Amino acid sequence: MSKVVVFPGSFDPFTKGHEEIVNRGLEIFDKVIIAIGENSQKNYLFSLESRIQHIASIFEGMENVEIKSFTGLTVDFVSAQNTNLILRGLRNSSDFNFERTIAQMNHEIKDVESVFLMTTPELSAINSSVIRDIKKNGGDISKFVTNDHFLAYN
Ligand code: ADP
Repeated sequence: MSKVVVFPGSFDPFTKGHEEIVNRGLEIFDKVIIAIGENSQKNYLFSLESRIQHIASIFEGMENVEIKSFTGLTVDFVSAQNTNLILRGLRNSSDFNFERTIAQMNHEIKDVESVFLMTTPELSAINSSVIRDIKKNGGDISKFVTNDHFLAYN
């Protein structure tokens, strides 16, 4: 049976840190579904359409990577993909503390298992919210984001 894992996130924007988690995930799983969560309460810097196009440009031609968006509970989206596996990246202890509660709740609600990959040290400082700040202030984000020209403001 092929193992499908969902990598959920806001990906506003999708960074080289996220990219590495997907590539390493593919060494463990047969398919990674990158799932962009859309929360109506949140203001995103980059439009959903441009985030999808951006991620698609990075994994172009790879059949084992799918890009989808979803609203609502992550566990419901995960079940709808006929899997019970979530992939997340851990940069530091703040990520761990945040992720632990969510992973425990997801397991409690729907028997969803979370698999964590520890970030490569060189990529652990890459943070989407800092990148948004750099971009808003006219800085260059190309060091942190592959194919950044695909990203358009909301
Ligand atoms: P969310 O809003 O769900 O936290 P993000 O887009 O910020 O979504 O992150 C999605 C996942 O990617 C999370 O598991 C996060 O910890 C992980 N992540 C974020 N930045 C990095 C990075 N530089 N290296 C590895 N994992 C990362």
